Amino acid sequence: MDQQGEKQKMTFDEIFYWLRENDSKKLEVLWQKADAVRQDRVGDAVYLRGLIETSNICRRNCLYCGIRAGNQQPERYRLSFAELLDTARLAKKLNYGTIVIQSGEDWGIDAEDIANVIRQIKKNTELTITLSLGERSEADYRLWLEAGANRYLLRFETSNLQLFNAIHPPFNRDFGSRLEILQLLREIGYEVGSGVMAGIPGQSWADLARDIRSFAELDLDMIGCGPFLPHPQTPLGQLFEIDSKTGLSKPGPLTPKQKQFCEQCKIPILASDEQVTVDENLPFKVIALSRLVCPSANIPSTTAVATLDPDRGRLLGLSRGANVIMPNLTPMKYRKMYEIYPNKAASFELPEETHAEAVRQITELGRIVGQGAGTSPQFVNRRSKTS
Ligand code: SAH
Repeated sequence: MDQQGEKQKMTFDEIFYWLRENDSKKLEVLWQKADAVRQDRVGDAVYLRGLIETSNICRRNCLYCGIRAGNQQPERYRLSFAELLDTARLAKKLNYGTIVIQSGEDWGIDAEDIANVIRQIKKNTELTITLSLGERSEADYRLWLEAGANRYLLRFETSNLQLFNAIHPPFNRDFGSRLEILQLLREIGYEVGSGVMAGIPGQSWADLARDIRSFAELDLDMIGCGPFLPHPQTPLGQLFEIDSKTGLSKPGPLTPKQKQFCEQCKIPILASDEQVTVDENLPFKVIALSRLVCPSANIPSTTAVATLDPDRGRLLGLSRGANVIMPNLTPMKYRKMYEIYPNKAASFELPEETHAEAVRQITELGRIVGQGAGTSPQFVNRRSKTS
């Protein structure tokens, strides 16, 4: 059955039901279903993507993100051409098939410079290249594709437009909505990934169910989601109380000041049973449901999932629908500076250690380390239909 057929199997009501289910016995059914579909559709290989956080310089002021322009705290950095190329070479040496080059929206990097690095990386390593550099022009996306980039990741963060606009202050360049950009990326030939954060203040359970439904409508090749993790130096991070032991955020009743802030920014103010709350099951529900709505997509067990549960998060993600992990290869001296949220998992593991640990975990699960590009079957099917 193709993705279209499977997608119709999951209704809004079912997704909504599972999101709100907290009985661990019943949730076992969801985990098992997702794992079975994962095995059937994308197999036992777990693909490793080497993540290179190439710059934390950002022009945007997203209300949740620790590297937002308005945060004076982090020291800003940008990898040199040589550092980026060296990191790509290290990825090749460690047997990665793909690197992900991610950054803030750093307009100080010229599009042509990025194209040059892509060409050099391709020439020297033949790695598959995923970009995650935010919103840019069609000309830039085309330039990078022609230079050799293969994939693009751009989360739409939430399908609730009021909430999206509230937490993403406008910027003086308008490339259309993220959904329009995703459509463009797909049309020009990228393998396209997107996703959302789960538990954004002002995000309702119905919003999140609609987000997950829309993964199927967007026919995504890759789906990366994670829990919202409050960053204390951001406006949204200050809305929720953070449990210092678990790191979980508790959306208690808002103080009058917080309420006023939400009203000013047009962040929906929700009753506590409507607001998505981040608990230990939420990230896995989102992964499992993503697998059920998009059976052939590549789905990572993301760093944010591992941050919430450093001991088991990554493994549980892999056994509840995910088939990709993204170990961090950013040069050590920059790690602390790319703090989009606090206490990022495995921030201080050396690339060699991170890689060895990933391989160990995959083997422990009885799975195998994917070799080569690990293109999503969803993209391969899509391509074969159009050509
Ligand atoms: N500038 C790029 C990359 C952003 S970082 C872009 O805009 O696409 C990658 C992802 O980190 C974001 O898309 C967002 O979903 C996630 N993120 C940022 N801040 C976060 C937070 N406080 N908690 C959880 N995830 C966060």
